[in-house]
Amino acid sequence: MPEMNQAKKLSRWSLTDASAVGHILVVRCGLCNTTRRFLPDDILKIRRDTTINRLKFICLKCNKRDYMDVTVYKPSSWEIGKLPIRRLADIKDVRTPVWRDETL
Ligand SMILES: [Zn+2]
Repeated sequence: MPEMNQAKKLSRWSLTDASAVGHILVVRCGLCNTTRRFLPDDILKIRRDTTINRLKFICLKCNKRDYMDVTVYKPSSWEIGKLPIRRLADIKDVRTPVWRDETL
């Protein structure tokens, strides 16, 4: 896809669309310059479908979200088996205590 139309296209391109054509998500933090790749199917396991431009990531290195850039990318055949990708390993249900103040 042409670079100029990228932002426009990502506002109409959903996780399901990306999955259907074999796109992977490329998430880059502009602050600490780290790039991580994800499979759309993994993201769809933890949230409902949305367009790529609406995805919000937090950088695990600098803990900021303001510098995150998300694009899609179709790996070439020679990259299969070589491209590092972050997979969903597990989903943990975290139990959080909720407190309220009462009178004894
Ligand atoms: Zn960062």
